[in-house]
Amino acid sequence: ANQKSKKERGAKGQEVSDAAKVNYYEEDLHKDALVWYREEGADDWKQYAFVSKSGADDCRLRDSGGGELTVPRSFVHTCNPSFLEGTSDLTNLTYLNEPSVLHNVRLRYERDEIYTRAGNVLVAVNPFKQLPIYTEEVARAYESGPSDQGPHIFEIAQRSYGELFETGKSQSVVISGESGSGKTENTKFVLRQLTQKSKRSTGKGVDKAILQTNPILEAFGNAKTLRNNNSSRFGKLINIYFDSPSQISGGNIYTYLLEKSRVVSVQKEERSYHVFYQLCKGCSEEDRRKYRLGRAEDYAYLNQSECFHISGTDDGKEFEDLKAAFQTFGLGVGMQDRIFKLLSGILHLGNVQFFEEETEGGQEARIAGPEPLAAAAELFGVDKSSLEKVLTGRVIRVGKEQMVKAMDVNQALNARDALAKHVYSALFEWLVKSMNAFIGKKKVEGRSYRDINLLDIYGFECFKVNSFEQLCINYANERLQQLFNRHLIELEQREYKKENLVWEHIPYSGNDHCLELLEGKKSGFIGIIADEINIPQASDSTLALKLKDQLACHSCFHNNAREPLRFSIAHYPGLVEYDVSQFLEKNKDTLSPDLVNLVSSNKDSLLWTLTQSSDRVRDLHVQNKSGRRQSTSVRQLSVAATFKGQLTSLIESLSETNVHYVRCIKPNSKQVSANFNSDLVLHQLKCCGVFEVVQMARSGYPTKFSYEDFSERYNFLVGSGGGAVGSTMDCKEVCKVILKQFNIDPSQYQFGSTRLFLRAGALGKVEELQKLYL
Ligand code: ADP
Ligand code: MG
Repeated sequence: ANQKSKKERGAKGQEVSDAAKVNYYEEDLHKDALVWYREEGADDWKQYAFVSKSGADDCRLRDSGGGELTVPRSFVHTCNPSFLEGTSDLTNLTYLNEPSVLHNVRLRYERDEIYTRAGNVLVAVNPFKQLPIYTEEVARAYESGPSDQGPHIFEIAQRSYGELFETGKSQSVVISGESGSGKTENTKFVLRQLTQKSKRSTGKGVDKAILQTNPILEAFGNAKTLRNNNSSRFGKLINIYFDSPSQISGGNIYTYLLEKSRVVSVQKEERSYHVFYQLCKGCSEEDRRKYRLGRAEDYAYLNQSECFHISGTDDGKEFEDLKAAFQTFGLGVGMQDRIFKLLSGILHLGNVQFFEEETEGGQEARIAGPEPLAAAAELFGVDKSSLEKVLTGRVIRVGKEQMVKAMDVNQALNARDALAKHVYSALFEWLVKSMNAFIGKKKVEGRSYRDINLLDIYGFECFKVNSFEQLCINYANERLQQLFNRHLIELEQREYKKENLVWEHIPYSGNDHCLELLEGKKSGFIGIIADEINIPQASDSTLALKLKDQLACHSCFHNNAREPLRFSIAHYPGLVEYDVSQFLEKNKDTLSPDLVNLVSSNKDSLLWTLTQSSDRVRDLHVQNKSGRRQSTSVRQLSVAATFKGQLTSLIESLSETNVHYVRCIKPNSKQVSANFNSDLVLHQLKCCGVFEVVQMARSGYPTKFSYEDFSERYNFLVGSGGGAVGSTMDCKEVCKVILKQFNIDPSQYQFGSTRLFLRAGALGKVEELQKLYL
């Protein structure tokens, strides 16, 4: 018998280590213990009562109707004791298996408690309905009290603000999650909470202006997608400077990778950027004539998706808000007129069509129908025939001679779309610059400034077909995840050190391997695609060959041998398949020199102003040594390499700060309230590292009590009549007695210099014992 039990233990030990990823510290199940089990094909786990073991690997369970079933033991997960149900911090859970974590998050969601802590990380589930938890009253409660008001986004704002002035160290709030999970809304709540402090005490304008950047950024940078009616199509870092605890002295906004392609191509049921619809709807009759503007339905760039309205959104009203926001930044009626002209010009440009004419030289593109071209030229403030020229031909050099080479229709369409994208993104960049000039930090000599960064950046993406954009986004997420690992694992260990615990430093295995594939010095992914754009004969297939050839030996690179243009990368949340079609073009993002010249032909136009502020064009002009404005060569900037540079400086600045993480979770894909899709949520919890954080806490001492609290709660358990000790002993001594009396293994706790540290599950044991006494 002895032999057998040994063998069982062996088998069980094996099983625990196999399931260790999700299933830490599961204990021997006793009869009638509640467990989670998910039947094959079921869409969720259900609770059962454990009946008995059955053979070496199975066990018997009883369902709520009394029926019994035999299932593999490794699929059975222990439920947490009921007093932990709906706990506000996941690290409190005795059992950290997937169904338990999920159950806890769902239970809270159903109670409209959308925020849950996972140690220092805040998990936020999008309620998709208005909750009364953001009122002035709630805001003040979080502002004023050290008392625990429960997890909340205001708590994060408060904590970052508090630590800014306690430690003098800059703070960051990194908000991530899938599209539609609530990142932008939560960012706004943090911003509101922080600016309110300033407003209450001084009432100066800069905090209002920082809030007013939102309507502008959202009009120009957000669009309706299948996943989110108000999806941000760019990444954003807001930097807020305080010069005293009660006063914001300025701010700065950085934006990352605006999705330019949306200006010219929109898929069904999605929309282009909000501002186009707002303009078409809200524009006055007089301006409408001036801009020759019709309805959104009239423009090819907008009507290709056959989607014009967003239910619950009034584009006309938003247009008023946008104009009011412009005023805040000193962008008056005159400047607005120039902005709207450019936007209308883009719409007209999109209606320019071409037909092909057979000539001696081959197929040549000609403009079909002159009106859209004339309108676009007028609104851009450029010469009509020059515009026609750059849309149908391009200047090439043959020896010393310059000559015009005609384009075919496809090339002409590309040139048209490139111009539209360029004008739009230059306008976006210029608006951000203008807002920054207004809210920018005004330095006063001799004062030190403190700042809080808010990062609202696209989460990890994995679609059926993934392209260049997903690569950049996922790359950004890998970098942020690396920071997250370092930060959270180190932070916890730093606390142990501070509290003088006996602790062997845990090295962590992160995602460095995948990052090495992406950005490795010599032959990383980014390096290869950056090189390829400077090779004249390169194509997507030569690029794919090169990638497959040079990266094949890397363990994070999975070749798809059947599809020449496809391969997968093992990112930290899972495998993502990429298709390199259009990679080269998207990474190049070329702007023909003729287009640059066209734009610079009228120095009074806003277009000229904006292209001057665009870094790309400045580079072009610097390169042109002749001193003339005539640009003859386009420097090939690789989008990915530029993005890598931006990311590197972003990560550098974040890592110098104290980072607070908010992980946003989308409970369903329908954008509706009261709908919790377990698989979807579980997937996101896994992707954003919640399990790792909690698990890290598990291998350490996640449960922390002040000696006072612990002794007060449990001292009635010791002594004969309950509560006998404590009155004469100090709290720490009482704690020692409690733990000893109840045979809590000394490996399960440590006495820190200010607090009691318990291993995961240790508290559960004490609670179990407590029950016996009650
Ligand atoms: P993301 O920026 O992550 O793509 P958003 O912040 O734009 O997502 O949120 C998408 C939508 O979800 C919002 O437009 C809003 O309708 C809803 N939403 C998000 N967070 C909340 C919240 N805390 N309360 C109510 N509705 C929310
Ligand atoms: Mg957003």
